[in-house]
Amino acid sequence: MTRINELRDGVFAVSTDNWRLNSGLVLGTRRALVVDTGAGPRQGAEILAAVRSVTPLPLVVVNTHAHHVHYMGNAVFRRAGAEEFWGHRGCAEAIRAHADYHRSYVGTHEPEMAAAEGPDTAVVPPNRHLPGTGRRPALARVDLGERSAVLFSLGRAHTDNDVCVGTDDVVFVGDLVEQGTDPQFEDSFPRGWAEALDRLADLERYRVFVPGHGRPVERGHVREQARLMRTAIERVDASEAAAAAPGGMRPVTASMFRLPYTPGSARVLLDRLERIRSEAPAGAVPAALSAPQPSAD
Ligand SMILES: [Zn+2]
Repeated sequence: MTRINELRDGVFAVSTDNWRLNSGLVLGTRRALVVDTGAGPRQGAEILAAVRSVTPLPLVVVNTHAHHVHYMGNAVFRRAGAEEFWGHRGCAEAIRAHADYHRSYVGTHEPEMAAAEGPDTAVVPPNRHLPGTGRRPALARVDLGERSAVLFSLGRAHTDNDVCVGTDDVVFVGDLVEQGTDPQFEDSFPRGWAEALDRLADLERYRVFVPGHGRPVERGHVREQARLMRTAIERVDASEAAAAAPGGMRPVTASMFRLPYTPGSARVLLDRLERIRSEAPAGAVPAALSAPQPSAD
């Protein structure tokens, strides 16, 4: 069942069941902005029907990042007339590189998308970009007619191509913020992510933070997610420092790090930090680092 929640006048969260996805809808006078399009033609059509129950305006689309649930419904919106698809250049590149692989995640709910057969199963990467690649903060403004949305990046965090979408005092934050589950670390840059969360929480104009999955949250939730992530990273660093001391040993299992996450999430975080530690000098990211990992959404 699709739920439409009007958060502010003309600003909506559109929630669909699969993956507990939240899309966004922002109404101007000339056109409307849709944030994230679902995992394929089925979910995309649900989101489009919800949008059309609210407005007949021409549509502009934003993809918050290049994880399958957030962009694989784009073709539905292209057929509905959308021409501008916004995202980071890095988001478009990741989609071009990994979309065929992403199809393997969606077969249960989106069999046509998984098989690349049928209407609206084409991959439609963003064709309008924020400045830069997603690795540094950046900003763009999309005019909707007597209202605009600000698209901004806080640097590498949940992925290397995250975009937030702010209008009035509402901000759609993609998977930068998680509600009801641990952060998804598979493609993440945890140190940058903790910083990005602090910076997001510092943006005083915003009061309602709409995560990519789960319920809208307040500023305190964003700060708490930042605090937990910093705590986790500090514990890993302390363990590494202890292991480097003469006679030192590091914890053997993920649970021995006492990280504030489920064992599965803690394991992914540890693996991710280890991989980034072994990475080439800053700025040179091995191609493998941006490869999609199972279960990331
Ligand atoms: Zn994601």
